[in-house]
Amino acid sequence: MEKTRNIWLDGSLVAWDAAQTHVLTHGLHYGLGVFEGIRAYKTEDGRSAFFRLREHLQRLLGSAHILLMEVPYTVDALEKACLELLRSNGLPEGYVRPLAYSGYGNLGVGAINDTHVAIAVWPWGAYLSEDGLAKGIRAKVSSFTRTHVNVNMVRAKVTGQYVNSILANREATLAGYQEAILLDTEGYVAEGSGENIFIVQGGVLQTPPLSSPVLAGITRESVLRIAKDFGIPVLEQKFTRDTMYIADELFMTGTAAEVTPVREVDNRRIGTGKPGPITQRIQDTYFKAVHGGEPRYRDWLTYI
Ligand code: PMP
Repeated sequence: MEKTRNIWLDGSLVAWDAAQTHVLTHGLHYGLGVFEGIRAYKTEDGRSAFFRLREHLQRLLGSAHILLMEVPYTVDALEKACLELLRSNGLPEGYVRPLAYSGYGNLGVGAINDTHVAIAVWPWGAYLSEDGLAKGIRAKVSSFTRTHVNVNMVRAKVTGQYVNSILANREATLAGYQEAILLDTEGYVAEGSGENIFIVQGGVLQTPPLSSPVLAGITRESVLRIAKDFGIPVLEQKFTRDTMYIADELFMTGTAAEVTPVREVDNRRIGTGKPGPITQRIQDTYFKAVHGGEPRYRDWLTYI
């Protein structure tokens, strides 16, 4: 991770190395924290803009609400903080990580502590590699299952829940794949360790519905909108792992992963083994949109 100048911490900017917390911080022990990943891009006109900033901040506060955590900032205040952070670091683009966590003081499982908020930014390139973006990645169905909707809160982006993602991702990467695909407790495809998943079959774009244990991805929603605007039929419906094997195209979406084609799952080539035409069209439009080159999606951007 490349260090930057400042981190926004509880209302003010502090130097990167000064953004520290006590080892007995409650959230560190039990995973009671919520977070976001947001990207800011350099736009075609030479400015910079956050992509879907308010939606991310709303999801952050929604995640905290689900966990009964009181965040002492509004979406407006957090939006201002993100803008201030990017400007103060002098970065034209970067990955922004807001984190709200249960603080230091009381350490029982049910203890209530103040919620602290930190926002950091640093440069972060292609999450699943430039090569993956261009040619597609190899993925593996995980032996770890995505959480049941009554075990964890699937609408919330909770720090502790990411142990499930880490187990799945490490299993896949140690076996030589680039990413894991997790199934739900019934055996249907859910999502990647940090991405939503889409297949294309017979010209129809399909993704698991939000009643599946998947994060309501903001990139997922953007891709669904782009597909609908292109007149591509869209189906939000569960599918099995073998449906992926015989799909024409497969791709993953996420703020970090952007739109990453998947060329192989469990050693089965997907389609031609190269990013398919619908994947490429959606990826192109997504990249144009985040860089301000698509007037119809300009309202997704918050310029700095
Ligand atoms: N699923 C999981 C488990 C994730 O961690 C992410 C990344 N936030 C996503 C899906 C994609 O969400 P988004 O498009 O909002 O980044």
